[in-house]
Amino acid sequence: MSPVEEGAVAGRLAEVRARIAAAAGRAGRDPAEVTLVGVSKRMPVALAVAGVRAGLHDLGENYVQEAREKIPAVAEILGEDAPRWHYVGALQRNKAKDAVALFDVVQSVDRASLARELARRAEAAGRRLPVHLQLNLSGEPQKAGCAPAEAEALLAACAGLPGLEVQGLMTLPAPGDAEAVRPVFARLRDLRERLARLPGGEALRDLSMGMSADFEVAVEEGATIVRVGTAIFGPRES
Ligand SMILES: *Cc1c(COP(=O)(O)O)cnc(C)c1O
Repeated sequence: MSPVEEGAVAGRLAEVRARIAAAAGRAGRDPAEVTLVGVSKRMPVALAVAGVRAGLHDLGENYVQEAREKIPAVAEILGEDAPRWHYVGALQRNKAKDAVALFDVVQSVDRASLARELARRAEAAGRRLPVHLQLNLSGEPQKAGCAPAEAEALLAACAGLPGLEVQGLMTLPAPGDAEAVRPVFARLRDLRERLARLPGGEALRDLSMGMSADFEVAVEEGATIVRVGTAIFGPRES
């Protein structure tokens, strides 16, 4: 990769961090409470590596197939400096084994059958897998994510699984302008307050919300994780 592209990633990353800090400041929050996950899907290995070299500690992917090649390739280049990998995409049950082998965190658990399979695979690998429950707050039935009314039942299903630890909630709002999604982010925060008091919710602290178009609003509304792709890495290969 050319030094020009690598420099562009570093520059954009610095800008995103400055915008996170400003948003945190407006909300009276410490920017250190916000983990920036660079979403490197459909970006080449060299760009993912450039992101880590520029200071990202966390990367996100949403295709298991692509991650199967990219994650080992990045690990080979970076060794001990390899990032933590977050799975943020829709996950089929038959990919659960690969997801457990490749990822540090799975943010997209939206049904009990998937939770059970991930737990089974994690236990077999001698791990306790950190997961987030993905909520569908836009009410579009075809969208990924658990309906808010079913969140308690999903948490209860996870509570009995020693292979999983529910550490957060994640949402992916329907595209719209950043201000239109503010109530969605506030709603995820309210759900966390409620679910954190229930069995299985003891470790529930993270709110993963906000992408390139709306991460500042998400930080103002309490995000502890923002998932930013194009604002750091530039336009995706299609
Ligand atoms: C692609 C993706 C992102 C990042 O989107 P950008 O608009 O490029 O910042 C974040 N979260 C999920 C789940 C995604 O699939």
